[in-house]
Amino acid sequence: MYIRELFYKKKVVMSAEVFPPKKNGMLEGVIRALKEIKPLDPDYVSITYGASGSGGMTTADVASVVIDAFDMTAVAHMTAVNMTKDLLEERLGMLERKGVKSILTLRGDIVEDSRFYDFRHANELAKYIHDKYPSFELLGACYPEGHPEAASLDADLDMIKLKTECGVSHLVTQLFFDNATFYGFAEKAEKKGIKASVSAGIMPITSVQQVERIVSMCGVQIPTAFAKMCATYQGEDLYKAGIDYACGQIRDLIDNGVRGIHLYTMNKGDVAREVFTRFEGDRK
Ligand code: FAD
Repeated sequence: MYIRELFYKKKVVMSAEVFPPKKNGMLEGVIRALKEIKPLDPDYVSITYGASGSGGMTTADVASVVIDAFDMTAVAHMTAVNMTKDLLEERLGMLERKGVKSILTLRGDIVEDSRFYDFRHANELAKYIHDKYPSFELLGACYPEGHPEAASLDADLDMIKLKTECGVSHLVTQLFFDNATFYGFAEKAEKKGIKASVSAGIMPITSVQQVERIVSMCGVQIPTAFAKMCATYQGEDLYKAGIDYACGQIRDLIDNGVRGIHLYTMNKGDVAREVFTRFEGDRK
């Protein structure tokens, strides 16, 4: 099923993100996570694409496991970094054969060996796929605080609008810890005329190391209540507090009419279970 159809059918569309192994073939970790995620009945599972365009094979392999072994809907991430038209054609053929219908088109994280060939931005990748393979549904990323490289949130919103004009029909946000930022973003996106449905990206934080990594990678703002939580709790207590914080965000989002929630699970099936089970009633 296409993701956009889910928004006609479900009260709240709740999805989970997993990442494939860095090396081909070593799927045990992600399969363990999928075993825990399956009974939670997520509306779809998205599978990341390795930084610098690596790991396209493993993304497709995991997507195939999600579809065939677990009978769930898969969204495959795909990046413009290090991508040529020939490689893209090969990857799309592979995804099509594995039964993937929806692709999250991204520029990709930039690391040392990142190069750009035929595509520079996510919208270029989206346009190429949309024009040549219209049966694929396209998703894109958006940033409630504005993308860190954008001159302003307004300038970034212009680029997100462009993304939707290139075929992206659903947006998934970068993680955020302050719902007010998301509400402000959603209002501005609507004023810009961005019509795509949006899933709010939520990451339950369960360790101090995770906070440090996330802040350095995404540069996301840390609200006072969140900083206080990280300073107050440690170990098992922080694990519980982090899940409570994420669930508090989700409760507030759903109560304010947000219909898409995307959980960054980081392959932690136990965390996904803690969160999903609290919202079973909201999804029916
Ligand atoms: P773009 O849409 O290309 O935007 C990047 C910057 O360029 C922005 O500042 C934007 O305003 C600007 N811009 C956009 N289009 C144009 C244009 N046509 N001309 C000029 N400027 C433009 N990374 C991975 O490597 N693998 C993954 O699987 C992955 N999954 C992700 C999933 C989600 C939901 C999110 C939010 C991010 C994910 N990322 C992933 C990270 C993402 O690749 C980075 O955040 C990257 O920096 C930007 O990607 P993008 O698709 O938003 O890029």
